[in-house]
Amino acid sequence: MPSLNIGIVGGGFSGIITAVQLIQKAEIPLVISIINERETLCKGIAYNAYSDKHLLNVIAGKMSAFADKPGHFIDWVLRQPGYKVMDRTLLSNSFLPRRLYGQYLCALWAEYTELATQKNIQITILDATVLDLEIHDDLVSLWLDNDQHVSFNEIVIATGNHLPRNPAIADMNFYQSHNYYGDPWKQEAVCNVDEHYPVLIIGNGLTMVDTVLGLLESGFKQDIYSISPNGFNILPHRHNGLTYTKLTEELKDSMRLTDLVALVHKHVKAVREFGVTAEPVIDSLRPHTQKFWQSFTDEEKLLFMKRFRHLWGVARHRIPLHTHDKLQQLRIEGKLHIVSGRLLNMTDRGDAVLVEYNDKKQHQRKVLSVGRVINCTGPETDLMLMPNNFLKNCLLKNIIAQDPLKLGIRADTHTYQVKNKEGICAANVYTIGSNLKGELWESTAVNELRSQADKLASTILQKYIRVAATTVLPQPV
Ligand SMILES: Cc1cc2nc3c(=O)[nH]c(=O)nc-3n(C[C@H](O)[C@H](O)[C@H](O)COP(=O)(O)OP(=O)(O)OC[C@H]3O[C@@H](n4cnc5c(N)ncnc54)[C@H](O)[C@@H]3O)c2cc1C
Repeated sequence: MPSLNIGIVGGGFSGIITAVQLIQKAEIPLVISIINERETLCKGIAYNAYSDKHLLNVIAGKMSAFADKPGHFIDWVLRQPGYKVMDRTLLSNSFLPRRLYGQYLCALWAEYTELATQKNIQITILDATVLDLEIHDDLVSLWLDNDQHVSFNEIVIATGNHLPRNPAIADMNFYQSHNYYGDPWKQEAVCNVDEHYPVLIIGNGLTMVDTVLGLLESGFKQDIYSISPNGFNILPHRHNGLTYTKLTEELKDSMRLTDLVALVHKHVKAVREFGVTAEPVIDSLRPHTQKFWQSFTDEEKLLFMKRFRHLWGVARHRIPLHTHDKLQQLRIEGKLHIVSGRLLNMTDRGDAVLVEYNDKKQHQRKVLSVGRVINCTGPETDLMLMPNNFLKNCLLKNIIAQDPLKLGIRADTHTYQVKNKEGICAANVYTIGSNLKGELWESTAVNELRSQADKLASTILQKYIRVAATTVLPQPV
């Protein structure tokens, strides 16, 4: 029987767990290659954290890499030095370091590469960036930045989180400045900061929190400013994981966005009477979000993005209580300033950056001198705005298409095959993870990605069995 050659672009959680599922399920000859850039194999962006203060934003009990083995991560944690004597329930309900989760994924991968050897499955890791993709008959070819050219029967695009977009300002040349840090996930963003000036963080979400903690850990003592359009307060996880069920009893199979918003308002009002805030109500929608998103019209999705996205983000993206306390303390001490406003311009003055912005609350144009600017606005999703991204080439060649809101790539949400702009599925190119945000909205967290990886592995292997029964599989050279 000829081998099935599978190429996986991206070796973060999505890529690695797809490979793990393929290894676990395979009963056919298999060759798996993972192409991953940036030395982030297994950990990806999220679990390659440079500090132990960077915590998971989901309790450990919900972070198993396998949907059908909910205790898998905790079982592993309890075998690690420093955790062996800990209480299981306490650990399951704690927000553990993301770095520890990265170690879990590396250990898991080591275990499965061992299993691959036993099952005669060939694994190749290519430390390279994919620059381009082409489809020739039944094979998919990839061009890598090390001049290698590799072909596969099936390709999985698991490219995950892209760098944030540079916000629009009067002089876009500013972004060449050595005082600007466009990658907030690298430790260098918080190291060797000039103590004479404050730091400006663009964005006010979870990465802003990580960056503040990183700056403190590296000994930075000056003021920190964060600017975002709304300056919402980031919320802590509270109400002890309260599960609210009343709203879901009133959900119908298909609902218009306005009816859903009215229902949420009604329940938020109801829980407020008992001193509870909106988060348990929003959380209760989580298992239904993908279904509703898929039933919304493009106009409803656009309305959601304009009117409710930020509020939704605040309710959904919360931080552990002790991290929240730390931020509040910094604000009380006058060290952390959360500004709501719009950036107008930034000018490099050598050792400092002059930041001009409109202060939304005070209706005033203001100027601030900072030593460093760190972009924490969150991953970019519009492929056309990304420099040197192979997905942009795929878009220009109509191998893939973006959803109307440019949140990700169009794909069949059952088979995960990518679609072109005519809506036709590519036979052997698949995607999972945050590329599916436009199709599913919630396609980011481990609990979504582990199920996608599981389903995708079954889809690919079942297809092989069907195809191999009738035709000879082309073998890449
Ligand atoms: C800072 C942060 C914290 C998070 N915390 C949590 C959490 O606590 N819990 C949770 O459930 N989710 C969390 N998430 C969501 C997280 O995105 C997912 O859990 C998961 O890690 C995504 O994995 P991924 O493999 O899809 O993407 P990524 O982790 O982004 O990995 C993609 C990989 O593909 C590689 N790659 C990209 N393009 C190319 C190319 N052209 N060629 C070669 N390689 C390429 C990248 O180098 C990277 O290694 C967090 C996300 C971020 C950004």
